Amino acid sequence: MIPGDHPRAESLARRELLVRGWREGIVSTQGLVAHGRGETFDYLLGEESTPPAQEAEMAAAAALLLGDPVVSVNGNAAALAPGELVELSGTFGAPLEVNLFHRSEERIERIADHLRENGAREVLGLDGDAEIPGLSHGRGIVDGEGIYSADTVLVPLEDGDRTRALVDMGKTVLAIDLNPMSRTSVAASVAVVDELTRAVPKVTNHGKGMKRREARRVLGEFDSAENRAEVLRHMRRRLGELAD
Ligand code: ATP
Repeated sequence: MIPGDHPRAESLARRELLVRGWREGIVSTQGLVAHGRGETFDYLLGEESTPPAQEAEMAAAAALLLGDPVVSVNGNAAALAPGELVELSGTFGAPLEVNLFHRSEERIERIADHLRENGAREVLGLDGDAEIPGLSHGRGIVDGEGIYSADTVLVPLEDGDRTRALVDMGKTVLAIDLNPMSRTSVAASVAVVDELTRAVPKVTNHGKGMKRREARRVLGEFDSAENRAEVLRHMRRRLGELAD
């Protein structure tokens, strides 16, 4: 039981969701470790959506609106934000595809069930009938009607190699990753450096009010490398303030 007045109650609640997801076979053991790395970066960012992150969230919404998108869902994302991902999927007409780094048929089924329990009508990724070129050991297995054929893919918490491989296929890749220096953030067309449960509803809300013309302008003006640099400057300023 997490006391509601605990100063870091939200972060602790996310940990609980992850642990519950791990017990239910949704989250991999490696996923718990990856979450810890994310928490560290979130601490450095002040555990809030920074101004550059909010700009990137707007650009991600624009890309989802203009593209033919699919959302890649792994165990951590499903455990942390199932309802939020279902809402985003409905808003942008972007199917959810279960796509795991540590692939196991059983875990894919559990994640798909969990998404359906949270309102998803259709979940892709159960067939795994296509492959992203250039990735070994089955890490590139995807759905031929999902990630393989989409022109835009939202990858919350993805591995750098797979992000790069999707970009090399000519796709617009939108990442949500708290580490502005990860290979994922560097390779992505739009890197949203923010915590997943904060970022997903913001992207959805931006999309609800956005017109295509505005989306084209927002995306045209967005520079992901400059945005990541601004996140790093934000971190540096924060560390400087804490040190003084
Ligand atoms: P890369 O291969 O992209 O260089 P990595 O090997 O560091 O990255 P992984 O272990 O594949 O990364 O994935 C974990 C990534 O997800 C980390 O960069 C971590 O900061 C991020 N992350 C973990 N939890 C969250 C979360 N809740 N919200 C956003 N990002 C998160």
